[in-house]
Amino acid sequence: MLAKPAAHGWTDRDLNQMLRDHTLAGNGKWIATSPQRPILLLAGILNQHGELDNRPAALDDAREEEARQQRIAVRACHRCDAHGWQLPYSDAAVRCTH
Ligand SMILES: [Zn+2]
Repeated sequence: MLAKPAAHGWTDRDLNQMLRDHTLAGNGKWIATSPQRPILLLAGILNQHGELDNRPAALDDAREEEARQQRIAVRACHRCDAHGWQLPYSDAAVRCTH
């Protein structure tokens, strides 16, 4: 059941986000705390989600990757501090362009 989502790059993070999205307030849906057939429940929610190329956690992954790249760039740069502010400090705060 998870082979197709996995083939589209889904991870546990996507499944968890899909379940959160499914039960968001205002969505009107709920999930039993101990479903009798959890695999079928998950399959049904996956079917409702539809497009597997639309990974639920894609935005979180992108945000995390952006932060990781920012940390790498700051670490490699000798013109700014650990927060990306250009050195030496001046009266006006200037972001480093790395
Ligand atoms: Zn820099």
